[in-house]
Amino acid sequence: MTRSQKIYEEAVNYIPGGVNSPVRAFGSIGSTPRMIARAEGAYLYDEDENRYIDYIGSWGPMILGHANREVLEAVFDAAAKGLSFGAATAIEVEMAKLICERIPAVEMIRMVNSGTEAVMSAIRVARGYTGREKIIKFTGCYHGHSDGLLVKAGSGAMTAGQPDSAGVTAGCTKDTLTATYNDLDSVESLFAQFPEEIACVIVEPVAANMGVVPPKEGFLEGLRYLCTRYHAVLIFDEVITGFRLCFGGASEYFGVRPDLITYGKIIGGGMPVGAYGGKREIMKLVAPVGPVYQAGTLSGNPVAMAAGITQLRILRDHPEYYTSLNEKSEQFFRKLQMLAQTDGNCQVNHIGSLGSLFFTDAQVTDYESAKRSDTDRYARYCNFMLDHGIYLAPAQFEAMFVSMVHTQEQLDETIDVAADFLYSDKGEA
Ligand SMILES: *Cc1c(COP(=O)(O)O)cnc(C)c1O
Repeated sequence: MTRSQKIYEEAVNYIPGGVNSPVRAFGSIGSTPRMIARAEGAYLYDEDENRYIDYIGSWGPMILGHANREVLEAVFDAAAKGLSFGAATAIEVEMAKLICERIPAVEMIRMVNSGTEAVMSAIRVARGYTGREKIIKFTGCYHGHSDGLLVKAGSGAMTAGQPDSAGVTAGCTKDTLTATYNDLDSVESLFAQFPEEIACVIVEPVAANMGVVPPKEGFLEGLRYLCTRYHAVLIFDEVITGFRLCFGGASEYFGVRPDLITYGKIIGGGMPVGAYGGKREIMKLVAPVGPVYQAGTLSGNPVAMAAGITQLRILRDHPEYYTSLNEKSEQFFRKLQMLAQTDGNCQVNHIGSLGSLFFTDAQVTDYESAKRSDTDRYARYCNFMLDHGIYLAPAQFEAMFVSMVHTQEQLDETIDVAADFLYSDKGEA
């Protein structure tokens, strides 16, 4: 038995499933988690001293690679001055200013501790601002685990959502309407049905929680148009895309300006940070200036801010890092796509440094088409990759994240291992 397996055996006695977030479980690939001991650059090392080229990057935050020296030093320095004050600090102002100066859609911003909190708060503000109760989300988009957002399919786009989790009351989700990603008609018909009741539309501008599904041409523009026309707030959930596609995230990349943006993941540099911001007119409703209550004992924590701001400054000051990240990722995913074409039973979706290999022969444009993937073959693929030193998400419906420190050799090695798998495992067509 490996050390990872021993630790896992103990873990399940004390932690549900042995993990503190379900995406870390290896159940869907029929295996047990590799317990990670440390990480550096593009590598993860487990408790058995196995080394992996990492394509999770802590689910996005580690865009500069693991254990970046500058970020670490900033954390050490901040920690030496005290871990938390529960009082206002200068570094929070610097963080807010840095973001507001560079992201036109963000005029004011509030720090929280996770993406879940950011989204939950942004929706509360959108409801406070519009005085309306209903929200529209897209099937297959993930916006954290708050009650009202744990709704995926419901029974068709025209009905109110069914809770996706035990413990979520029907009351909590009755105002959550679901539409189909990349399908503007499904959104328009909800607006037509409830023209004066919809507070906001929330969307992942690039869906990355059903595997990666980029927006079709005109989709985000169409959402902007519909929200403006029906006086609803457009929220881009940029917890993954923020500071990832380019410094300005999806709103800059696609040139569409939402009313509110939520952040997480990269914004904290690996520490627990989330944020929501947007139009001043809307953000002014947040307590203590306005009537929408939202608070946090550890929000804007000085150590977390030190990590976040150091990472964001590096990213802001080096646009060329994005250019080379996007170029090498493009080549990498193209090569993967060529393998997929030869195979005939898989697809690659990608944009910038985000991508997914789906084991299906049909194009993936939304949740329904993503779901047609052969998850058993994904499980064999993922285990094969792990056994050959490549760490992928242990589930089909997650993104691959390439970082700025992945080298050409590491990317090529990954392609070689993927090719070996695809040649040796033809799936059960
Ligand atoms: C990860 C994620 C969240 C939730 O963030 P947490 O920090 O895990 O709470 C919300 N929205 C999107 C798009 C995400 O990918």
